[in-house]
Amino acid sequence: MARYTGPVCRLCRREGTKLYLKGDRCYSDKCAVVKRAYAPGQHGQSRKKTSEYGIQLREKQKARRIYGILENQFRNYFEKAERQKGVTGENLLRLLECRLDNVVYRLGFANSRVEARQLVRHGHFTVNGRHVNIPSFIVRVGEQIAVSESSRKSPKIAEISELAAHKTTPAWLEMDKDQLVGKVVALPSREDIDVPIEEHLIVELYSR
Ligand code: SF4
Repeated sequence: MARYTGPVCRLCRREGTKLYLKGDRCYSDKCAVVKRAYAPGQHGQSRKKTSEYGIQLREKQKARRIYGILENQFRNYFEKAERQKGVTGENLLRLLECRLDNVVYRLGFANSRVEARQLVRHGHFTVNGRHVNIPSFIVRVGEQIAVSESSRKSPKIAEISELAAHKTTPAWLEMDKDQLVGKVVALPSREDIDVPIEEHLIVELYSR
């Protein structure tokens, strides 16, 4: 599955806000948004007037970058969200939240979604007892996400357990920190999704 491999701090600077793509570094004063609070590139420091379309586009790019998704796949999520009952923008965020890499991140197994994605790709997790190494796998209510038996002895997983023990789990997930098993207890509501995105702008963009 294709993914963005360029410099990630540049993405935050382009969006003018922290997207928390690098784990601990994002909370330190080494964060590029703190050090250089302007857009990257030659004209990054010149002020530009943004059109309505530009605002909508930036919101979509921000969402894509937070969840680490490329354009076509994001469009597919939007189309799927449109076909579902309810508010399209919320459906879209819910779908993104239910991706396995995001759930692994939310359960506290990783410092960032990028790291969570890598751990999933390396086969460290099971869903309902079956190995799943597809970051875009959509988890459902009732499913259990666990560190796989074969990975439990690895030093990386020891690090993960330590990390997970100190993280707070969102209301829609449940986490057994001793057994390293998480469970989806409900679908996330909009209040549960703490991403700084105005999803209605994305809906407006795609409805043009
Ligand atoms: Fe973004 Fe984190 Fe880099 Fe700061 S350190 S610019 S929040 S990825």
